[in-house]
Amino acid sequence: MPKSFQIGTAKSQPGTIQYGHWEAFTHPTGSAEFLPVVILQGVEDGPCFWLTAGIHGPEHAGPLVLHKLLTEVLAKQLRGTIIAIPALNPVGLRTMSREPLPDEKDPNRLWPDGKPAKPPDPDLEPPSPLEITYKKIFDLMLETADYLIDYHNAWTGSISFSFQDRMLYRPDGDGSAKAEAEALVQRQLEMLKAYGHTIIGEMPVSKLIDDDLHRSTSGALLYLGKKPTFTVELGTGHMPDPAIVQASAAGTRNVLRWAGMLDGEMEPIEGIKVIDPGYPVRRLQTPRVKEAGVVFHLVQAGDMVQSGQPVAEIRDIWGRPIGDGYVYSDCDGFVIGRSHGIFYYTGDAVLGLAVRNTEPLVEPYPEDYFK
Ligand SMILES: [Zn+2]
Repeated sequence: MPKSFQIGTAKSQPGTIQYGHWEAFTHPTGSAEFLPVVILQGVEDGPCFWLTAGIHGPEHAGPLVLHKLLTEVLAKQLRGTIIAIPALNPVGLRTMSREPLPDEKDPNRLWPDGKPAKPPDPDLEPPSPLEITYKKIFDLMLETADYLIDYHNAWTGSISFSFQDRMLYRPDGDGSAKAEAEALVQRQLEMLKAYGHTIIGEMPVSKLIDDDLHRSTSGALLYLGKKPTFTVELGTGHMPDPAIVQASAAGTRNVLRWAGMLDGEMEPIEGIKVIDPGYPVRRLQTPRVKEAGVVFHLVQAGDMVQSGQPVAEIRDIWGRPIGDGYVYSDCDGFVIGRSHGIFYYTGDAVLGLAVRNTEPLVEPYPEDYFK
């Protein structure tokens, strides 16, 4: 018999899908904000896999992937339990805004950071309703989750890909924390390979902490819970590509197979571009324009690019070329997606590029992190 789970009003029942509400917070106008919960449980016992989506309002592919994935057929075949939240940020999804009321911060940077609690400071804003919400959900994840995937979208027209994280550890005397971090990176890589979409490494540690990326949904459970997790990026968010949605559902079933929760052959990932340049890559916003102007991209998402190659034309608003009229790549790699729009200020990056990763995947927390 599988273990029993209850999240809000949703209570697991072997061999079925159960639906419910989890009360998040109350609006000043009286209505309660709830998060929708789906618990799909197999007949046999197995791990507990969390699947979350919809934390960024304009990113609409994730809920669709969960709808395709969570079927009665899966409930008959699964070993273990899936706990899914298709809308981590209902207000944001309705308004298609990334930083929605009642918060003005990126919600995917509000999860616990593992720092010691500080005494309340009257000059600081207290945690926002969403920050408190995610802390409570995080505690439920810590109790129950063995794995997690969080579904997002990158940019309009970007390829489907998944992020490989850099793992942080607190140095100890005998090196066991580093060894544990390295083992977790390996587990995550296996899981990413099972998912089967393009794999792209995160930014170097200093940058990811500056950006609070360790406080993302998957980051918090990876760094603090030490569970294998990852974030996927499903191309265009405001008008999801059906091929990417289907390929993500297939990739997720393959991860369930990898986790021993589902039988059968790994499914082929079809209908989307999967790029493996033969070396590990990380994301980088590049190249940056040297003068403000109007950009016409010469490359598309998924194209291989070489250092020195013109990747865009650049003109002034009258249409006259700026300089020799081109923006050149300064790296080898492949295009994750074009930056949005055509009007670029000096220093704006023209592309999201996947470039060779040269930094370590496992690093200690910065010395002052826990102070
Ligand atoms: Zn996102």
